[in-house]
Amino acid sequence: MRACRKCHKLTEKDTCSVCGGVTSTHWSGYISIIDSDNSEIAKKMQIKVPGEYALKVR
Ligand SMILES: [Zn+2]
Repeated sequence: MRACRKCHKLTEKDTCSVCGGVTSTHWSGYISIIDSDNSEIAKKMQIKVPGEYALKVR
């Protein structure tokens, strides 16, 4: 599994399906955003699309 360096979205591809950013295998922490409008973490991380995200990406 890889994580986008820009928006932290988890994916299996080299580029992010949401923002087109480069993905990395060096990530930690896992978060699943179901309702991005009512999630404080989603707001903090500026997540607009529900899905699975990494907390930290290097
Ligand atoms: Zn992205």
